[in-house]
Amino acid sequence: MTESVYPTPVTLDPEWTPDTVAVQAGRPARVPGAPMNPPVTMSSTYVHDATIEYGRDGNAGWGALEAALGALDGGTAVTFASGLAAATAIADLVPVGGTVVLSTVTYYGVRSIFERMQAHGRLHLRMVPADDTAAILAAADGADMVWVESIANPLMVVADVPAIAAGARERGAITVVDATFATPLRQRPLDLGADIVMHSATKLIGGHSDLLLGAAVCRDDAHADSLAAHRHDHGAIPGSLEAFLALRGLRTLAVRLDRAEASAAELARRLASHPHVSTVHYPGLPGDSQHERATRVLSSGSGSMLSFEVAGTVEQTEAFLARLRLLTHATSLGGVESLIERRARYAGDAALVGPTLCRLSVGIENVEDLWADLDGALRVPFS
Ligand SMILES: *Cc1c(COP(=O)(O)O)cnc(C)c1O
Repeated sequence: MTESVYPTPVTLDPEWTPDTVAVQAGRPARVPGAPMNPPVTMSSTYVHDATIEYGRDGNAGWGALEAALGALDGGTAVTFASGLAAATAIADLVPVGGTVVLSTVTYYGVRSIFERMQAHGRLHLRMVPADDTAAILAAADGADMVWVESIANPLMVVADVPAIAAGARERGAITVVDATFATPLRQRPLDLGADIVMHSATKLIGGHSDLLLGAAVCRDDAHADSLAAHRHDHGAIPGSLEAFLALRGLRTLAVRLDRAEASAAELARRLASHPHVSTVHYPGLPGDSQHERATRVLSSGSGSMLSFEVAGTVEQTEAFLARLRLLTHATSLGGVESLIERRARYAGDAALVGPTLCRLSVGIENVEDLWADLDGALRVPFS
């Protein structure tokens, strides 16, 4: 069922770096007259006696995107209508009455899925901080799944994925890593021992804030088959146009991420010594408590996300956000445009973070323009 429905994807050279794979993977095979890009196939039904006979069975566009994401993460990819649709399907791999270890700092939507399943008596949850590897492994005894987000929202926690995955495996649990912030270009969790990687391709992979799409990439084909069956039966399928746009976004991920990450590192450095900022969370910042682990676990940089606390009141923080002209006060992340958000506006995050914590998704604008906007707006409520 998870065999690629894309007729014959182009062959990849195993020597190619991930930046190159992101550009080449999932294209049609290079035969005379072949298009450079996969088609957008807008059809709910197909002529009988084929692998795809109905719109929930498959789509050439998903096949192409799955070939690319699978190649980048080193596993078998299954795409979904959104990141949370992928998370729902993965959560359903847990046997009835099973146990899940979940990191406390986790995207609130993922936490809600598991909390609701627990409330319905479907499974048991053990909540543990993602940066406390010993506590995660202690909780993994007798568990079926360990779910960590790394780099984690909104405090940019980096989990020790190699140690967690190895320990979970010894205890008979599978490890799932939500790698949305890191992308396959900064962390390859399957190489680090994890069983399933989850991506919200809505974010950096799509990269233009114009689609929702999710993916699970599996080490084990039995997991991929199960997830594809879940998608088929529950119907959370990606749209053909969204799959096309996500693959188009993936083509430029390397350059977008390099640029946004360099700016994020520079902004983190400058914010750390700003008079109206108390704390900066960016794992790539020397002196950050995550720095050693980030250097060891992430393949190069620390990504394009950071958060910081305004050294003032909630009202001053809101006044700062209202004053911004280039950065937009909006949720979500990973697009070419920079976004900023006070996280405690969400009840789910208010318990985890200080009231003035702002999460910043750095885009690809010029870093000096971003700094001028941030620095200028930060001074206003204090003058
Ligand atoms: C956005 C996000 C999700 C959910 O993905 P959707 O595509 O919005 O459903 C899950 N995890 C993380 C880390 C996210 O940022």
